[in-house]
Amino acid sequence: MQNRFDDQVVLITGAGSGLGQAAAIQVAKEGASLSLVDLNQEALDETKAKIQEVAPSAEVLVIKADVSNEDEVKKYVNQTVETFKQIDGFFNNAGIEGKQNLTQDYGSDEFEKVVNINLNGVFYGMKYVLEVMKTQGTGSIVNTASVGGIRGVGNQSGYAASKHGVVGLTKNSGIEYGQYGVSIKAIAPGAIMTPMVEGSLKQIDPDNWEKIGEQFVEPNPMKRFGKPEEVGYLVAFLLSNQANFINASVIPIDGGQSYQY
Ligand code: NAD
Repeated sequence: MQNRFDDQVVLITGAGSGLGQAAAIQVAKEGASLSLVDLNQEALDETKAKIQEVAPSAEVLVIKADVSNEDEVKKYVNQTVETFKQIDGFFNNAGIEGKQNLTQDYGSDEFEKVVNINLNGVFYGMKYVLEVMKTQGTGSIVNTASVGGIRGVGNQSGYAASKHGVVGLTKNSGIEYGQYGVSIKAIAPGAIMTPMVEGSLKQIDPDNWEKIGEQFVEPNPMKRFGKPEEVGYLVAFLLSNQANFINASVIPIDGGQSYQY
């Protein structure tokens, strides 16, 4: 049987951990060549090693870059095209949560930092990748938003503002590029147990974070955290040609918790 990603090139940011790593492993298993971007070189090497275990023949390029720096974004896109000649799927995913605080105490520097990574980074990525995909006349972009991109979270001004921005960018650009054969969507994950969420629970109570986690998922109809690989399956589908007609949309993956908003 033909794999969904045979002869396809997938570019992923934030590929060193969590959702980016899970998606990288999934598309690699299905035949993709990969360009993996992260700020953390060790984390990139770890993802590459995990891919080699499950998909030894996958071609993997790793690029250390900061998505909030436009020059570095331009370089990671150019390097990907120089190596693979095309970009079929782009998981525009790198992001941080930032510190939790009341809006008045949140801090302008923290706000700027979170928005620079989560929103500007997604915009820069789209800017350079869309140039490539428009010329190709094909491609799929999946931007990582969040439940915090479709409702308020509390104590997360920068995160909520940036993720609402990602939803806006997705809806706007999806309208522009559909006619060129390029589809653009966002995912809105609920609480998925990754290092980011572990860090967030530890901010609330470093000694009792697992207990806090259990309370946190109590309102969820499924009473549990999502798993990174569950997001990996969704992202693989959305990046594949099977999902080409899903465009300018936000897809929740949250165990049903979005019934509340
Ligand atoms: P994670 O911390 O496990 O992974 C994020 C990765 O992004 C890390 O490897 C980190 O080094 C990298 N990164 C951070 N800043 C970067 C930068 N400036 N340039 C390049 N790489 C950078 O987190 P995760 O949970 O996998 O989160 C991935 C995305 O999913 C984020 O955008 C996050 O906001 C979003 N998200 C996560 C959840 C969840 O519950 N885990 C829920 C909703 C949305």
